[in-house]
Parts: sequence; structure tokens; C-alpha cells
Amino acid sequence: MSEVLHIDWTKCDGRGLCTELIPDVLGRDDWGYPLARQARGGDRTNVAIVPRDVAAARDAVQLCPKLALSLSPQGALKRR
Ligand code: SF4
Repeated sequence: MSEVLHIDWTKCDGRGLCTELIPDVLGRDDWGYPLARQARGGDRTNVAIVPRDVAAARDAVQLCPKLALSLSPQGALKRR
């Protein structure tokens, strides 16, 4: 199942560990903060994760030192 990776920039320190774990999914802005390489309707903090990247995205969530990342099932955002 596809999932959505949420980036909370208010918690992030911008060091970029997550961008090294899923480089095809996340890039960095001019200040080092992660953002989606492909925005969904202009939203670059809620990133669609295809099945092949889910394991690496889970690693990023677990390893983020600021607890700034979370994964939700695709479609959960519509219910928020
Ligand atoms: S690993 Fe966490 S703190 Fe580091 S850049 Fe990514 S979201 Fe920010």
C-alpha cells in the first residue's frame, strides 16, 4: 500500500539525514530543509511514498533525531 510521509518543518533541524535515506523522494531547500521532489498540488511537506520506498521511508521516520517525520496510509490526509 502507498503511504504519505509528512514532514514537520517546525521540528526539523535541516541536517538532511532523511534526504540521504530517500534521495529520489526528498530534496533539500536552500536552508537544508527536506521537501518533496515532486509536489502534490504545491504541497511539499506531504509526500506520496510508492511501495518500493516505504521501507526506506520507515527508516527515515525512525532515525529522524527530531521526530519530525511521520507516515500515514494514503488517503488519511483527506480525512484530516
Ligand atoms: S532527518 Fe528529521 S531533522 Fe533531519 S532533515 Fe530529515 S526531517 Fe529534518
